Amino acid sequence: HAKDKGGNLIQFFDPLLALAIEERRHLESELRRAIREHEFVLYYQPIVDLVEDTLVGAEALIRWRHPERGLVPPDDFIPLAEESGLIGEIGLWALEVASEQLAKWRAQAIQLYLSVNVSARQIPDGLPPETLFETARRHGCAPQSLALEITEGVLLSDFGSTAQWLSKIREQGFPVYLDDFGTGYSSLSYLKRFAVDRLKIDKSFVRDIATNASDRALVEAIIAMAKSLGIEVVAEGVEDAEHVRLLRGMGCRYAQGYFFSRPLPIDAFYAFRDRIPLLLRNTEEH
Ligand code: C2E
Ligand code: MG
Ligand code: MG
Ligand code: MG
Repeated sequence: HAKDKGGNLIQFFDPLLALAIEERRHLESELRRAIREHEFVLYYQPIVDLVEDTLVGAEALIRWRHPERGLVPPDDFIPLAEESGLIGEIGLWALEVASEQLAKWRAQAIQLYLSVNVSARQIPDGLPPETLFETARRHGCAPQSLALEITEGVLLSDFGSTAQWLSKIREQGFPVYLDDFGTGYSSLSYLKRFAVDRLKIDKSFVRDIATNASDRALVEAIIAMAKSLGIEVVAEGVEDAEHVRLLRGMGCRYAQGYFFSRPLPIDAFYAFRDRIPLLLRNTEEH
């Protein structure tokens, strides 16, 4: 391409490109500082059981408390963390904090599980199964209470080592959830080859189920397929009472979304937990 533009030097000094590279370098060094200075925080988004009308757990979602920019969402820094290799350390931090939280809940006899997002880049070497086992053991977390969310992309890469990683983790009792289901290159054969415990239907399919018949059919088909494979389903992006009503009707047991709550700092999560019985009772009247 350089030749088309008239030589290497011109491309090298492209001011926009130079700026982009500089910004990237800056963000990367800020990320290193964030790790060092503990600028990350986990938010917790409730996951509810639509059959029992109870709160069953939460997804741990990372945020960056940036000293100047305020709360930075993960989509703004996780991709760079992945490309630069920093995701390994950040991922271990998230696992550590989630395990600490579970230990607190255990001490208070609060029976909720947490699911932690694991980047494709962390599998298999960034998060060795032994490290997970050791972390859970050190905090006294029951494996069943600590789920790992992976995306479909993981199943495409390096077949052998991914399969081993998955089976080691599931053998020890840690549930594995397939996140954003339907958005990747999902094929039914993957579900047969890689056993997982739950599918999380991506929010882009849930959003229009009330108005779009083909989205509704798709969600219904995913639920039916999962049921026949013995896999539980969590619907993501549940934003209103109509979503809840339709999903209940389709036999979807678990749900997560703004209708119940946004991801919350831990104190707000506790406050939510106290209100949940009332909130869920109200959804049944629709
Ligand atoms: P995800 O794992 O699919 O998480 C769900 C995202 O959907 C969250 O965005 C959540 O806030 C958002 N969401 C939940 N309910 C609703 C709803 O009803 N409507 C809409 N429109 N959105 C909803 P968030 O927190 O910004 O996280 C974005 C992504 O960043 C996550 O997607 C996950 O892929 C990644 N991520 C978050 N935390 C971590 C982490 O600790 N490690 C890694 N590797 N990735 C993370
Ligand atoms: Mg997730
Ligand atoms: Mg998701
Ligand atoms: Mg996502």
